[in-house]
Amino acid sequence: MINIAIDGPAGAGKSTIARKVAEKLSFIYVDTGAMYRAMALYLHRKGIAADDTEAIARVCKEPRISIEYRDGEQVVLLDGENVNSFLRTQEVSDMASKSSAVPEVRKRLVELQQKLAAEQSVVMDGRDIGTVVLPDAQVKIYLTASVRVRAKRRFLELKEKGENPVLEKIEEEIAERDHRDMTREVAPLRQADDAVLVDSSDMTINEVTSHILNIIRDRTGSGRRPVPGL
Ligand code: C5P
Repeated sequence: MINIAIDGPAGAGKSTIARKVAEKLSFIYVDTGAMYRAMALYLHRKGIAADDTEAIARVCKEPRISIEYRDGEQVVLLDGENVNSFLRTQEVSDMASKSSAVPEVRKRLVELQQKLAAEQSVVMDGRDIGTVVLPDAQVKIYLTASVRVRAKRRFLELKEKGENPVLEKIEEEIAERDHRDMTREVAPLRQADDAVLVDSSDMTINEVTSHILNIIRDRTGSGRRPVPGL
């Protein structure tokens, strides 16, 4: 099995890039953020408050979370229900950011992630993949971009959806989430010692994808053929 770990802060383009890299290599793409979001959705539906860590630690043992692949897309199942379309709301993002700091939540989801990576070659993205989940991954990438650039990308995304976002507010929220991810006690976001740093601030998606594929080729010999269209 070949395991590729991609970590980094919110909005650095991890999921877009990880999905493309996985496709080129014919590996499975595992979006671990979506698992934390599914758990958050469960907690939110149960009416648990995001700062009630005791209740979160208890209740997080209840749901069955699993993933499946349909037409190459990761589908997250919460007690058998496809919840993909409920994972990107503000409430779920907030709850995920807070509940993911609870050790019991991490324990359950890390076990699931490790099992998936043991069964097949994966490109897995998250915050603690290179440091905690897959410390022996053959290739580790730490993908980042400046707060300004990440906020601008999010701003444009929301505008395209017809919303009326405020850039400064998004910047603040991103900085706040970074802070929470980097300073939490369990599995904080940090670059693994053996990870390669990639700063995507001034790069296009295709440039980043092709750069990462080159790193993977150098380290593993995977995907030696030229990559068309990149
Ligand atoms: O990447 P995404 O924004 O979907 O992640 C949702 C939340 O889950 C984030 O707030 C992050 O703190 C958390 N997360 C985590 N560990 C991971 C992946 C995501 O704590 N491996």
